[in-house]
Amino acid sequence: MAGTLGGKERWVATGSIGALIGGMIVGEMLHRVGATATVSGFSVAGDLILVRPLMMLVLPLIFTSVVAGITSLGDPSRLGKLGLSTSAYFLATMLVAATLGATLVTLVGPGFGLAPEDVAALTTSGIERFEAAPKLMQATAAGEQGLGAAWLQIARQLIPANPFASMAEGQPLGMIIFAIVLGVALALSGDAGNSAARVLNGLNEALLRAVGWVLWIIPIGAFLLVSASVGKVGLAELLGPLGLYMSVVIGGLIIHMFIILPIFQVLLGGGNPFKFMWAMREVLATAFATASSSATLPVTIRVCETEGGCSQRATRFCAPLGATLNMDGTALYEAVAVVFLFQLYGVQLSFGELAVVVATATLAAVGAAGIPSAGLVTMVIVITAVNASLGSEKLPVGAMGIVIGVDRLLDMCRTTVNVWGDMGAARIMTRIAPD
Ligand code: ASP
Repeated sequence: MAGTLGGKERWVATGSIGALIGGMIVGEMLHRVGATATVSGFSVAGDLILVRPLMMLVLPLIFTSVVAGITSLGDPSRLGKLGLSTSAYFLATMLVAATLGATLVTLVGPGFGLAPEDVAALTTSGIERFEAAPKLMQATAAGEQGLGAAWLQIARQLIPANPFASMAEGQPLGMIIFAIVLGVALALSGDAGNSAARVLNGLNEALLRAVGWVLWIIPIGAFLLVSASVGKVGLAELLGPLGLYMSVVIGGLIIHMFIILPIFQVLLGGGNPFKFMWAMREVLATAFATASSSATLPVTIRVCETEGGCSQRATRFCAPLGATLNMDGTALYEAVAVVFLFQLYGVQLSFGELAVVVATATLAAVGAAGIPSAGLVTMVIVITAVNASLGSEKLPVGAMGIVIGVDRLLDMCRTTVNVWGDMGAARIMTRIAPD
């Protein structure tokens, strides 16, 4: 693994950790002095120098990586084994994450015990915030059609009528499925297939080289983005009425990241998880700073292969799929947020309703895109399902607005866990698909 780092790697790896710490401190200072213009400037600059260059590379990289990964597997039966094992791992870890979230929030009860005037203020401002967010209002209309509609939407993404349209609309799932089909067909096409596969492989290598250039910018970009995000809300939110709720989310994410996923890794033969985590620090820093699994994906693929000891085959299959489907942090977050909101509205959920929360939070996490705040949008599915199982609308969907204000900070944390889960998959699946 990491071994001896070159100058560039050292700058990126060490600089990205420094960027996170420095970004938090500077962001908090900017918040305290009310330097809103500087905060917006940092946000725009971070977007321009880090997020947009990564997003520019991500879709062509997904396509070529998946095709290259699949053709290099050769025999389609190996793909079947890899696909099944990866899906089982994704599903199991997301269910565990959602269960952990639902358990913690039920035990701690952050929504009970708040002063009635705090609850009233949170609800009023929350509903106003929700109504001012058009994306959420639209999502509500779609989400309220129920679970059947949510499944149908995922199924439609899985079988795209036009993969290029999915790509243009920022739904990488359709692109991945198309790439899998093409990869298998190329692997079975003999010589003609080989030459096309070589071209796509070459393109993939070239794109990964370009990712290497962007790596240089991670420390600066991450510093700007973290300062901007912390500068917008301030860390004092952690002490406000939503503080306990935020602590439950963050505590759950820490348990999942540092205890549960490492256990999976050790049990499934993925080697020393903490060494691996340390080697992956720039990926984790990028995820935290951008709050986007998709934007982080180019860095994930490159660093898993160069520093993480993951095979190209496993990485190129697991990382793109994981960035789209596998969101442990989001599943945990959705479970905590929804149960917390019900608690605020005075509803204690029974065991059966908590099971509905766990199942639908997992579905909502699968359906969430790898972009900032996507988890908020799919939360409607969970709220609607629990209301349906309670037999009446005990929690208005608009109550989601209560958690919008503190979402960015939690989004940064859950995205880090989402990406950590994807990297764990690449590491574990390296056993099934070594180079
Ligand atoms: N931002 C998360 C991600 O990209 C998704 C979410 O909002 O939960 O992984």
